[in-house]
This record gives sequence, C-alpha cells and structure tokens, in this order.
Amino acid sequence: MEQPINQTDPLDPIRKEIDEADRQLIQILARRFDAVKRVGSIKRAEEQPLLDTERERRVQASWIQDAEALGLAAPFARRVLKEILNHSRRMQESLIENRQGPGRRIRCGYQGQPGSYSALAASHLLAFRSGAESAMEGYLSFQDVGRALLNGDVDYGLLPVENSIGGSIADVNRLICDHALHIVDEEVWQVEHVLAVPPGMELADIRVIRSHPAALTQCETFLSSMEDVRREPWSDTATAAESLKEGPARERRDTAAICSEEAARLHGLDVLARSLADRECNETRFLLVAREPEMPDPRLHCKTSMLFRVNHHEGALVHALEVFAQAKVNLTRIESRPQPDMPWEYLFFVDVEGHMEAPNLAGALVKLRSCCSHLRMLGCYPSRTRKQDGHLDAAPAPVPALVRPEPVCIREVPAETAPVAKPHPARSSVRIGPVTLGEGRFVLISGPCAVESLEQIVDAARMVRANGATMLRGGAFKPRTSPHAFQGLGQQGLVYLREAGRQFELPTVTEVLTIEDIPAVMEYADVLQVGARNMHNFALLKELGKLDKPIILKRGMSATIKEFLLAAEYLLNGGNLQVILCERGIRTFETSTRATLDLSAVPVLKRLTHLPIIVDPSHAAGDRELVIPLALAAAAAGADGLIVEAHPRPAEALCDKEQALSPDDLEHMVAGLRPIVAAQGRVW
Ligand code: PEP
Ligand code: MN
Repeated sequence: MEQPINQTDPLDPIRKEIDEADRQLIQILARRFDAVKRVGSIKRAEEQPLLDTERERRVQASWIQDAEALGLAAPFARRVLKEILNHSRRMQESLIENRQGPGRRIRCGYQGQPGSYSALAASHLLAFRSGAESAMEGYLSFQDVGRALLNGDVDYGLLPVENSIGGSIADVNRLICDHALHIVDEEVWQVEHVLAVPPGMELADIRVIRSHPAALTQCETFLSSMEDVRREPWSDTATAAESLKEGPARERRDTAAICSEEAARLHGLDVLARSLADRECNETRFLLVAREPEMPDPRLHCKTSMLFRVNHHEGALVHALEVFAQAKVNLTRIESRPQPDMPWEYLFFVDVEGHMEAPNLAGALVKLRSCCSHLRMLGCYPSRTRKQDGHLDAAPAPVPALVRPEPVCIREVPAETAPVAKPHPARSSVRIGPVTLGEGRFVLISGPCAVESLEQIVDAARMVRANGATMLRGGAFKPRTSPHAFQGLGQQGLVYLREAGRQFELPTVTEVLTIEDIPAVMEYADVLQVGARNMHNFALLKELGKLDKPIILKRGMSATIKEFLLAAEYLLNGGNLQVILCERGIRTFETSTRATLDLSAVPVLKRLTHLPIIVDPSHAAGDRELVIPLALAAAAAGADGLIVEAHPRPAEALCDKEQALSPDDLEHMVAGLRPIVAAQGRVW
C-alpha cells in the first residue's frame, strides 16, 4: 500500500527536484558515452590516435570555467570530470582493442570474495574487456589464483601489486617473479572504506571493529576517535562484513566492520560512516595476469614491465637505468627482490611508460639486454595510473611503424637476410658463482666426458682443480651417436656431479638433452650445455631462453657462423642473456681428425657478437695427442676459455676415451697455456 504523502513537508518538492536532476544526470551521461563510443569507432576505422591531450585540456578548462560560473567548486568539478574522462577513454580503448564482442566469456580469478576490493576492481576491468560476459572466481590466496590460472581453470587473474599508502605487496611480486605469468592489463582502484553494522545498530553500540589489518591501519584517525573500541584483525574486508550477517557478533550487536560499500550492501548491513581513511587518496594498483602475453594497440597509452638482474659491479644498475633516460623513457616503478639462491644479489622489477614496440623503448630494451645478465619481459599493457593533479600524462609519442626488437648478439649483418644490429659498445660477460667468463679473463673448464661414478667424478674434480680449472664438466645425459653406447647415469649422474663440484668448490657444467630434463639439470648444475647435435633444436632453445641460468651453446657440426648466432638469438630472445658460445669443430671433407676445429670462428665471432666464446679442442680432435696443440692455438686466437675433457684414468673411460687427457696431459697443457694467457695480459 502506498504511504500517505505528507503535504506539509517542505522537503518533498525539493527532493523531487533532486531526483529529477539525478535522472537527467544519468541520461546526459549515457548520451555523452554514446557520443564517445561513436568517436571511438571513427578513430578505430581511420586509425587515428586515441588520446588527444590538447582536446582533453580544452574540455577540462571549459568544464571548470562553466562549473565555477555556476558556483561549483573547481576541485569538485575536476574530480567528477576526471572520472568521466577516464571512463570515456577506457570505453574507446576497449573499442580499439576490439575485445568487446558477443560470446567472449572470460573467467577471472581474484583473491577474496564478492564485495572485496579485488572483486570490485576485477569486475570493473573485465566489464571493459568483455562486457557483461565475465565470470569472477574468488580464491583463498594469491598463490591459489596463480595456480588456477596456470591450470587453465581461469583465463586471467587479478592481483593487487601495490597500494598508495601501504606500498608494495611482496607475495604478489614473488608470484609473478616465480611463474611464467604475463601482465596484460592494470587497474587502479580507489579504496573507499565504510563502517558497516547490522541493521538498527548505532555508533554508540560499537565495542569491536573488525577488518583487514591494512584497512584498520588506514583508518587510524577515525579509530582513535572511537573510545573503548577494540580493533579486531580479520582475513579480509568482505569476510569481516560477512561475519556480521549471522553468528555471535550479530547477536551481541556490538561489532562493526570496515569494508567497501558494496560488501555492506551485499551482506545486508547499514552504513554508519563513510570516507574513513586518513588520507583521501587510497588507491590500489592491480595487475591482470594471463598465461600468454597480449600486445595492446600502439595508440594506447601503455606501460611496459620487466624483471632484470645486473652483474655485481659498481654502477651496473645505474648503467642499466641510464639506458631509459637516454631514450627519454619514464620509469614509473623500480623494486628489488631478493634471490634465495644468491644472497644479497637482487632482481629488479621495473615499470616504464611506453609501448614495448615503440621505437625509443624497443631501442632502449636492446641496449638494456647488453648490460643485464637476465632480462624477462613481464608484459606491455594499457596504463591506468594518472598523475594526482588530475592532469593527463603526455600522449604517447606517435608510433610510425612497429619495430621488432633488434637481435642483440649479432653485431653486423653477416648475410643479406640477417637482421640488422648496431655494434655493441662492450663485450658481455657471464658470471657463474665465483667465476667470470669474459672481461679479459681466461677460464678452463675440465672434467670427464661423462659422469661414471661418484668416485670417478670426485677424482676428476680433484685433478682438474689441482691444474687450475675453475669449473667442472661431466655429462649425465649423453647424446651418443650409437644407441648401444653408454648413455650416461642420468639423474644419478647429476647428483654425483653436484657432490664433486661442492667438495672442490667448482661450479658444474652438464648437457641438457631434452625439455623434460630441464628441471633436473636446473636444480643440480650451474651451467647448462647445449650440445652440437641440439644446436638446431629450437624448441629446446626457446625453453632454455626462459631460464635464469648460464648456457654454453655448442656450434652444430655443420652449422655456419650465422646459423650459430641465430641459435644464440633464440636463447637471448627469451630473455636469457647468459650465453657462452662454444666452437667445437665442424664436419669437413677431412677425416684425419674427428672434426675440423674452425679456429677462425673465434676472431670472426668476436667481430660479430659481444658474447663470450670458448673452444672445445677435445671433440674437434678426438685424439688426446692433438688436444694440447689445439688448446694452445685456441688461447692464442683469443678464446675466453676452454672446455677440455680429462679423466683421472683415461683407459677406464666409458665415453670418448681416445680424447680424454690424463692428469699428466692436463698438467702439460696448462703449463703451455699459462705463458700465452699471461703474454696477452689476461687474468687466469
Ligand atoms: C660433450 O661435450 O660431451 C659433447 C657431446 O659435445 P658435442 O655436443 O660438441 O659433441
Ligand atoms: Mn665427449
């Protein structure tokens, strides 16, 4: 039944007026957004830039002028317009990205439950990406979101990465760092805390206020104004609201929750106070992550995120960051993350403004690669952060054409089809624990062809260490030409190799034959070797390119130098910049040696690439008598090091017996090498 209208209440006609104004406001907004969409369609069809900063400035100026003329405060008007312009831009962006379309149902995971800030941010972001066609799935922890994404249970995950008051969220950074997740979008969410209570309760009834600890901290001023009230940390804001729906707290009628307006509404609570936070600006930045990268339209204002490691040198980080300054690329975030396996060495998370394929940023990234030991691109995505004054960031530089990042290992064009690269200012070096390969040093890697037993590899380690080798080699998985030959000890061999390396403090090198073996060799060895037979195994190279582990790449038996470098490019392209090239002899018409050692490859490669180059005289010679002269020649030719097969008891070797140096041979070789290296002014 209708309530009788109190004709005498003077507020009624005014309220009617307000309701009518609100209705008009909504209609006007709908009209504005409709026009914005039409502009977006034309921009899309005519490939016009999305952002017209000049026009936005003009709109803003006349909006403020009109508002002030009507007696409205400028800061208020600016804030309203900021929201409207943001929304308009996002609508046009999704049009340009052509993501909106019927039948595209997207599943997105987040941490928390409906009504949490993560859920709100997720539905806001996904509404632009897929209209109403998205399903939100709440998970208990960030790790659960990551797992669901990697398992394919959801298409995307939305994770909070930093808060404007609380700072960075370490668990989320770790999750992104440790898994192959790609950042494809971001959302910035204005956190607005309210005080929610079961219906009918009043401020004076409150004895307990529960919420997420971060939310309690953010509302310090409000909480200290409440006398005799206990703060109760809760797992998250939405659960705190839910806990008041029923149960003892509701019966006691003494507990309130700090949560979002939406969570309060969802759980049938009354809102007693709004804007509880100490600071007006309380924003959380979320990242939308996916299993595959997505490349946004170059017309969008974008950010690019990456993860890199620099060698432990003076100025190494400055050097890396300078690359961005020189390219006029603005850095928006830098954060370091410790690496459990390398105490006191850090990975750096860096966000910059710009599209990854815009010429200035693409060029900066090529340069960055040559001053990092590891670089992983985390993603390129539309930027949602705006400066606090409400002003828009500058429009992105016009992008005439997309450029592919240039290859980094090739200095010159070896043939007409090869991609172009500029000469590299410096040679790169690779660090393996205490050993540095490159930088005018000479490194001897030695050990048996295959790990045969614990005793054999321990004896070998002792022998090579005594002769100045600084790394231990030994194959656990052997690529044998004959299936009847010894195939290696496999996993057990890795265990023995690591044990021998530990006993004599020698980093270890072992060959990885297949993608399936990667986790095991990653765990046990310090350097992974790609053998000559696998140089063309691009699927394997692509996987190894994703690792943060040095790789020795051997030249294929019939590979040209150009093919060799392009194989190295597969590793570098994936982000693994710790690549060491190894010349090990090629197949020619000559049969008096196992292969023909192409020593000219050493100076040729030095001219073509900045990567360190070592030589394997053992597999080239196939005969121990020839190994020593070839080793000396390789050092003289300028190789950064040698990898030489040696066995404590060559007669017993199960693999490549004929070429294995004995302890005496090794001593003899080293005696010949030392004066050559010293004469070159190099450090052993
Ligand atoms: C090896 O180093 O043991 C090996 C098999 O080498 P390559 O791949 O050069 O033949
Ligand atoms: Mn061998």
